[in-house]
Amino acid sequence: MFDWPKQNDALGTVNRGNPCESGLCTLCMSDCKGKCETWLSSLVGRKLLYPRNFGNITSGASHISAVGAGYHALRIQGYAYGSKGLPAGLSKDPDDCVFPNVDIQTSFGGEIKTKCRVPMMTGALGSTFIAAKYWNSFAVGAALCGFPIVIGENVVGVDKESKLEKGRIISAPELDRRIDMFLRYYDGYGAVIVQMNVEDTRNGVAEYIVDKYGDKVIIELKWGQGAKDIGGEIQVTDLEYAQFLKDRGYVVDPDPYDPTVQQAFKHRAIRSFARHSRLGATDIDDSDGVEKGFKEAVGYLRKLGYKRISLKTGAYGMEALAMAIRYTADCGLDLLTVDGAGGGTGMSPWNMMQHWGVPSLELHAKTYEYCKLLEENGIKVPDIALAGGFAREDHIFKALALCAPYTKLVCMGRAPMIPGYLGSNIEGVFKPERRAELSGHWEALPTSVKTVGTYPEEIFSGWEAVKNKVGADAMDDVPFGAVAMYGYADKLACGLQQFMAGARKFDLASICRDDLMSANRETEAITGISYMTDALNEKALAILKG
Ligand code: SF4
Repeated sequence: MFDWPKQNDALGTVNRGNPCESGLCTLCMSDCKGKCETWLSSLVGRKLLYPRNFGNITSGASHISAVGAGYHALRIQGYAYGSKGLPAGLSKDPDDCVFPNVDIQTSFGGEIKTKCRVPMMTGALGSTFIAAKYWNSFAVGAALCGFPIVIGENVVGVDKESKLEKGRIISAPELDRRIDMFLRYYDGYGAVIVQMNVEDTRNGVAEYIVDKYGDKVIIELKWGQGAKDIGGEIQVTDLEYAQFLKDRGYVVDPDPYDPTVQQAFKHRAIRSFARHSRLGATDIDDSDGVEKGFKEAVGYLRKLGYKRISLKTGAYGMEALAMAIRYTADCGLDLLTVDGAGGGTGMSPWNMMQHWGVPSLELHAKTYEYCKLLEENGIKVPDIALAGGFAREDHIFKALALCAPYTKLVCMGRAPMIPGYLGSNIEGVFKPERRAELSGHWEALPTSVKTVGTYPEEIFSGWEAVKNKVGADAMDDVPFGAVAMYGYADKLACGLQQFMAGARKFDLASICRDDLMSANRETEAITGISYMTDALNEKALAILKG
């Protein structure tokens, strides 16, 4: 394998740390002064689709697609003619076949369709502190852009203000804040999804939500994620808080009640405690058949009143992938998210991230194969979201095409968090009295921001569009991180429209696997996507010989 390039001279971007396949650094820091592609696009939006200094430069691609297997080794087709999926009212006239006319709206679900303005959703942002700190930016940004946001596991369990009676939640202010913040700006597109793990199930999270929010929330069963194959973890540096978490029933390591540990903590030899969740799905009794247990869990949620239910699975092997697809289909769930081995929000063990599980390309290629098998057997295939190392518009196109027609959304974990904390850092500069509350890290704008602009309306490409949407009077309440999210989503949306126009696909349903080519034989073998000079070769020969 090779090192991913740290610097992109054409775009004028550079990674603070070591980049991974997504283009993000292996360690993404909330105080980062820039400036990778995701960071900069959060400010300048769609302008970042193009090389810098137009008029004074020429620019050439630095191909990296031929080496090794991965999404980077899939290339996107372009066609010299055609226009599939043109929206009603548009003709094949070149005046109509332009990229701004490409429709990238999507929807997912069974009986109830959840509409999205862009085919993306966030990863699960749960009890990690970075999710809590910048939540308002994430939630308002997702609602304004019109895509789903996922509240991850354990939000209630770690909330010191939440109240449990006989082990069941009766008050959950942090969960309420997260849901309410999205719903305040929700305008019919996107959704708020709440994940449940073993502890959440025991604490009665599902019952609490349905009582308070009815069907405004989608509930998600969680089997796993890409970053690790153990439950979610957080790190706390306070002995009393660690004891509180242990009392709440979590696995806390080391044991904060152990006198030896307490002594070591006093002398600062131990400075933090790791709070772990239990393994996903172990509450389902496999002696009786895992599917039976899964169906009972789904049946229980439906009885509570949930009309929309999803499942998230991780980078497990093929058996678990098949189970996830088949059970989701059998239970008529609304969405299945398949997360390839990759990153997380900060407390996945590093060598586990590096070495466990099935990487995204391999996992997603098999997802397609298994979904097709179900379809061939007359079983309705669930709507799929693919996750694991995505951050750019080319990633979105490739994921949608690789598992077409089943993929409806691309799930992105770390990338959409960048505009959230970047915006908060900038807002903290302009509103120093609120800097701590915003978790802003900066006292002054760094040069990397000042070269873009010196006041909010100049810094954020999305400022006027958001103002237009919410009204000038309401702009004071909109987190800058949400405005930055709007810029980032704008770049992704426009870039996706451009790839689709080049592939002559004017709606998402028209995207197909033939819109991809493998840049090397290894990737072809994994995905079944033809090598680039084999793809369409028969058609080429027919033309030449005809
Ligand atoms: S925002 Fe994160 S991924 Fe981007 S350069 Fe900074 S640290 Fe790296």
